[in-house]
Amino acid sequence: MTIAVLALQGAFAEHGQMLDKLGADHFEIRQKRDIEKHFDALILPGGESTVMGKLLKDLDIFDTLKRRIEEGMPVFGTCAGLILLAKEVEGGTTHLGTMDIRVKRNAYGRQLGSFYTEEEFEGIGRVPMTFIRAPYIEETFGRAHVLARAAGKIVAARQGGHLVTAFHPELSEDTRIHEYFLEMCKAL
Ligand code: GLN
Repeated sequence: MTIAVLALQGAFAEHGQMLDKLGADHFEIRQKRDIEKHFDALILPGGESTVMGKLLKDLDIFDTLKRRIEEGMPVFGTCAGLILLAKEVEGGTTHLGTMDIRVKRNAYGRQLGSFYTEEEFEGIGRVPMTFIRAPYIEETFGRAHVLARAAGKIVAARQGGHLVTAFHPELSEDTRIHEYFLEMCKAL
């Protein structure tokens, strides 16, 4: 199984390091010709969702990725990656729009823009959660299912092949959420 990591902008390198630790085969998508290579699953990293959304279009890779996700390719979105996947975005525009969640961008305000906590994650246990100017999920609907909450807000969810976290698991030493994604990919 090969995982492609979208590497247009943001914290993509840390996802690669996590996948290295887990011995998973991966490569980076930087331009259109990269999406012609074979990959079974995709990671959308944190960064700036508006910039990433625009680059996806400008580089002409938006439609192919959207189609493959709609066809069921597993995808893991962290932070801005979560925003890219949301069908509804408060305070911003919809991008790939494939997951039944409504998100609020920069949702914790200036004071709480970045913070660390540890909370329960369904099926895993307590996990470290690093938030950086993070969104949260205001509501899941349709087929989306809540996996974790922090400070009363939904911060992780799953829907079929979609896994999203508002925090950055790639910035901790804990590999369990990436392992969860790899297990999810194998089971689909
Ligand atoms: N605030 C960013 C956005 O709206 C997300 C921040 C992040 O990915 N760390 O896209």
